Amino acid sequence: MPARCKLCLSPKLPILGDGPIPCAVMAIGEGPGKREDQRRNWQTGEGTPFIGDSGMELNNLYLLLCGLTRSQVYVTNCVKCPSPGYRNPSPELADCCSGYWLPDEIRRVQPKVIMTLGAVPLHTLFPGVDLELHHGIPLRAEYAFWSGILIPLYHPAAGLRQAVYMTALLRDFENLRAFFAGEEMETGQDAFPHPSYREAKTVTDLDWYLDTWTPASPGPPVIAIDTEFIPQPRGPKTPYCLSLSNRPGTGRVIKAESDRAPVFERLNSWIRDTRALVYFHYILADLGVALDLGVRVERFRDTMMDAYHLGDEPQALKTLAWRIAGMEMTEFEDLVAPYAVEQAMDYLTQVEAKLAPQPAYRGNTEAPGVIWVGEGSPWENPYKPVKGFGKPQAGKAYREALEMGLLGDLMTLRGAALASGSDPWSQKGLDTLLKAVGGTKTGLEPVWRKVKKILADMEAKGSNPLKRWKEWEEEDRATCTGLAGPYPVPNISMVPWDKVIPYACRDADATLRAAPILHRRGIRLGRVS
Ligand code: URA
Repeated sequence: MPARCKLCLSPKLPILGDGPIPCAVMAIGEGPGKREDQRRNWQTGEGTPFIGDSGMELNNLYLLLCGLTRSQVYVTNCVKCPSPGYRNPSPELADCCSGYWLPDEIRRVQPKVIMTLGAVPLHTLFPGVDLELHHGIPLRAEYAFWSGILIPLYHPAAGLRQAVYMTALLRDFENLRAFFAGEEMETGQDAFPHPSYREAKTVTDLDWYLDTWTPASPGPPVIAIDTEFIPQPRGPKTPYCLSLSNRPGTGRVIKAESDRAPVFERLNSWIRDTRALVYFHYILADLGVALDLGVRVERFRDTMMDAYHLGDEPQALKTLAWRIAGMEMTEFEDLVAPYAVEQAMDYLTQVEAKLAPQPAYRGNTEAPGVIWVGEGSPWENPYKPVKGFGKPQAGKAYREALEMGLLGDLMTLRGAALASGSDPWSQKGLDTLLKAVGGTKTGLEPVWRKVKKILADMEAKGSNPLKRWKEWEEEDRATCTGLAGPYPVPNISMVPWDKVIPYACRDADATLRAAPILHRRGIRLGRVS
């Protein structure tokens, strides 16, 4: 019996690869399924990969589409034994099993091309490659000692479950026919590797951009517009800038500042007078912002809708632009993250300092209503009851009242309670106070600890503070906002303007470049008129 990887618990034989050796094309799936497990040779216990439903799809549909037959392909799996319950193998198992078997298998097979089927083999063997972005596109790649062409593909089983994956699989394998026939495949090179992206500060800047270009075809011009805005938690978005592109590889951006009103007016009149057709990518996000900036658009199309109608194109602009125009683009989150993290760190440090233990508060129980904040020895934990200082809640209440600038209220409450002969530190009295300071019923200590934890995790593990902040109870967030104002939610205004210019222009440029490609395909397939 062959040796096996250390995570393998299966008592059965591993199901090894199947096909000619050597072989120019190797297909690597995830791991054997139920059918492969059940249809082992009853005498030897050996099995064959991809002989179940996924195998039927691969052998009888997809491989034929790209001009290959199963006998021309060496088919294997990333994990050689069926996983418990035939579930998707875990990343640890995939890593361990593939590390054990695949280098040797690849050495023997000597493939020129490796097709990965599904996310498991792709992410295990080629971790930097994104399946959504790169599926169906031949890429130069390396794994261990091997170097050659990698073609990431969706798993045939995904196509059986969801039509959108089947459409993508059909199109990818069909497109690969040219590649396997030895033809150069169009892999979408960026046709404008040195784009011209600038700011239009004045009407002259804008006129220069709009008027120095003669459209290729007669009739109204076609441009693309994108907007950036600052979301407001309650209320309308605040426009930040508007970018436009009227020819591929170029773009101009206008900042939403009061002295730019004439520039927006000029753009508005140009669109009206020329009856320009304006492309947006997800118009619902942009139309209102453009209108707020004084730019009214009457004739428009939406590349996101065009992609949707095609059914096999991604709808996210960055993925779409990469796949159809070879454009590399920065994700909004990646653009903003460094600046947002810095601001989150400042904010949380400020909150933490406000919540952190402070020097002792000493009360004089002899003279009710009189309290002073002394220099005395710091409380190790101010949230703990203080010996000889009234009831346990007293320390907490003093501290919270002090933090919130409500010490006067506490004193009033205490005075009133004493005057009425009731217990000044009754739970009821304290509850009233805590409610008054923003509903921090549980006290501030747990919040303080949470803030400290986020800060520590940000330092140590680079954790995303916004994700953690969103997971908190509303009450805890309210405590922090009560102390330090609103949380700095990532937004475009955090990014230096010189970085916003190329980012914003590229979105408009990508939309303009995608528009005719999607439109032509739509017409060819009869999906648009
Ligand atoms: N059968 C296999 O051999 N591999 C898979 O990934 C799925 C089914």
